[in-house]
Formats: sequence, structure tokens, C-alpha cells
Amino acid sequence: MTTRRCPDCDGEMEDGFVPDFSYATVKQTCWHPGKPEGLTFFGMKGIDPSIKCDPEEMIPITTYRCKECHVLRAYADM
Ligand SMILES: [Zn+2]
Repeated sequence: MTTRRCPDCDGEMEDGFVPDFSYATVKQTCWHPGKPEGLTFFGMKGIDPSIKCDPEEMIPITTYRCKECHVLRAYADM
């Protein structure tokens, strides 16, 4: 594993992730191609509709944090 360097200050970056809190679960945030589109129920959108997504297209996002200036940078590596 290579150490990523900060694009702002060239400091060492530490890998991590942004927790995605949902109903009684915590998951890793993922990247998905396309624009978010709300789900419909018999042609009607709810007040807070879920987003359509294909689990096969989702890529977990690794977020790096600079140990020096604390900037965050996210990558959707395979
Ligand atoms: Zn930095």
C-alpha cells in the first residue's frame, strides 16, 4: 500500500471512511454513476423518497485525511 500525499501541503494522508447512518445500520458511503433519482410508489414520490441505485454499480468510498492540514479527499477505488 502506498502512502497518499496531501494535494494542498504534501503531508501524509491517513485512510478512513465517512459512516453512512441509516435506519439501525451504519454503512460505508459509496459512489454510484449517474444523477440521483427518487423512487416512486405507483407513480407518486414520497416526502423523503429513497434514491434508485444498482448495488452492482456501487463503489465504496475511501476518504483520506491529511495529518497536517486536515483536508479530506475521497477516492472511489476498486
Ligand atoms: Zn495537507
